Amino acid sequence: MNITAPIHHCGGHHFEPDHLDSTASSLFTPSGVDGVYGRTGEYESVVEALASLIGAHRPGGAEVFRFPPVMPRASLEKQGYLNSFPNLIGAVSTLVGSERDITRSAAKHENGGDWTEDLKPSDLVLAPAACYPVYPIAAARGVVPDDGYVFDVAADCFRHEPSRQVDRFQSFRMREYVRIGTPGQIRSFRDPWVERAKGIADAIGLSYRVDVANDPFFGRVGALMASQQREDALKFELLVPVRSADSPTACMSFNYHKEHFGEVWGLHNAAGDLMHTGCVAFGMDRLAVALFVTHGAKVAGWPASVRAGLNL
Ligand code: 5GP
Ligand code: ZN
Repeated sequence: MNITAPIHHCGGHHFEPDHLDSTASSLFTPSGVDGVYGRTGEYESVVEALASLIGAHRPGGAEVFRFPPVMPRASLEKQGYLNSFPNLIGAVSTLVGSERDITRSAAKHENGGDWTEDLKPSDLVLAPAACYPVYPIAAARGVVPDDGYVFDVAADCFRHEPSRQVDRFQSFRMREYVRIGTPGQIRSFRDPWVERAKGIADAIGLSYRVDVANDPFFGRVGALMASQQREDALKFELLVPVRSADSPTACMSFNYHKEHFGEVWGLHNAAGDLMHTGCVAFGMDRLAVALFVTHGAKVAGWPASVRAGLNL
């Protein structure tokens, strides 16, 4: 890299740091909003190949759900998201009222006014994680069977963190395996998954380390929650050098929520025990970006072993 090269500040379409520019700009088309991109066919073929590879490791008996990019606002409120990550929320708002009201609001734009001041919150928010809709689905079935549940879920997720960096999007795809059961069932689900995930990373030629981690809980109270989460080793991440080796990027996470979702949604087994939950999350876009950054902008030039691992 030429360290004397000037940093570009012209417009919103340059990715940082500079050395990623050529790879990133061959994969993504800027939308005009940071962290939201059009994706090339080649990039999507890698996302699809990753999805099949991860699917090949689907736990036996897993039930599949594919969720839309929106979920009920009431669910997010009920599970405490407003306390934990209010800064990341994206909510859907709409114009409502009579034809006259709506026409008047919409006309504000052409008249140089602000039509958005008439927007009203709808019943929907953008889903910030793929697993959130599955807990109320399980709860609606009543008593949790003794074997618990395993789900395979995916969704387009949104987090309000505008970024020009190639490993942080506002809109990204997440795939998850979710376990609902006793603490023992969650542990014997999550622990082997850390090893299995390393095997997946090996198969596609990514270097990584696995480390204890925390969620970015909001504010001063959040900082306490984050340090408690680390202390209790409730979250691990598989980190891949994408932007730099010094601050590697979380491409997968292994989460034990203890009784949080069980309590919120009233998940119990026949014996009356409160159910615990855990999930393994795959950041599909981060994994795809990690592959392109590691192996090059053209799949045709990737090592044969990696292409074989992905069936590409
Ligand atoms: P978590 O719930 O652990 O924060 O997120 C699960 C996974 O989603 C992360 O390990 C990561 O791979 C992916 N992810 C989270 N935030 C972002 C983001 O801002 N951009 C992208 N591309 N992926 C993300
Ligand atoms: Zn999850």
